[in-house]
Amino acid sequence: MTVAETPSRDDATSAEVAISIRDVDKVYGQAESAVLALDAIDLDIRRGEFVTLIGPSGCGKTTLLRIIAGLEAPSVGTVGFGPRATDGPLRSMVFQEHGVLPWMTVLDNVAYGLRVRGVPKAQRLEVARSYIRMLGLTRFENAYPRQLSGGMRQRVSVARAFANDPEILLMDEPFGALDEQTRMMVHADLLRLWQEHRKTVVFVTHSLSEAVLLSDRIVVMSSRPGRIKESISVPLERPRHISEAQSSPEFAAVRGRLWDALRDEIELLNAQEASAPPIPRRSVWRRLIR
Ligand code: ADP
Ligand code: MG
Repeated sequence: MTVAETPSRDDATSAEVAISIRDVDKVYGQAESAVLALDAIDLDIRRGEFVTLIGPSGCGKTTLLRIIAGLEAPSVGTVGFGPRATDGPLRSMVFQEHGVLPWMTVLDNVAYGLRVRGVPKAQRLEVARSYIRMLGLTRFENAYPRQLSGGMRQRVSVARAFANDPEILLMDEPFGALDEQTRMMVHADLLRLWQEHRKTVVFVTHSLSEAVLLSDRIVVMSSRPGRIKESISVPLERPRHISEAQSSPEFAAVRGRLWDALRDEIELLNAQEASAPPIPRRSVWRRLIR
């Protein structure tokens, strides 16, 4: 694929593309109860890019993440990964809740992914401890999740995801349940970790400010069926410092543009709630009844 062949998608060359989503539809259910969750999603994400999906609830953000994670198959279309990862790169997912295993200590939670992959004990504990240190959890490495605050549990999830050293990190509203101050702390952690490790990240949030603060690019999705409505680049320089970034005129400008794009969709969603659900396109039906 060259730049010239895909002018509408992105200016990335294939060597830089980490995730390439082509014409993806997702239908849940069958016959009269079929629901079109995603409609013709086309998206390229570059290696090392931090992309956030934002959109009204039910627009298919989680569905799209699960498809990228390989936990769910698209009904139509394909998801491909960059040339260095032809047989499917390692992807780690961070969820809003249930991200930690309650019967394991912090240390074992963070080392869990490495254990599953057969990394020798000494090595996995060393890696896990280094992330535990980076996230300020050293004093708690032998604690169990129930002994931690919500913010600390989310840090354990983030530490585990990074310790796993995936090529792609998928984060579904990971900080949605945290209070604002705790959120700011984990934002600082995440900005720092990303700066150091430059993972490809696909992040989902409802928070406009969080999206602007963390992302290189924000993809706004329409209310159901989920389509890509707009892709907004965030021109804030990196490394980013929370207070400087948030007080800059660029931050306000991007946040304003984001709100303009979202407001219409939220209004549409409210109007839709009273009416019939969208119907899958014909090609999808053909596939489903084959
Ligand atoms: P979001 O994460 O943006 O809130 P989801 O991806 O969870 O949206 O859901 C998109 C749509 O697909 C919603 O209408 C939801 O009800 C529907 N949906 C999601 N998962 C399933 C499922 N397993 N079975 C049936 N419908 C589903
Ligand atoms: Mg969701």
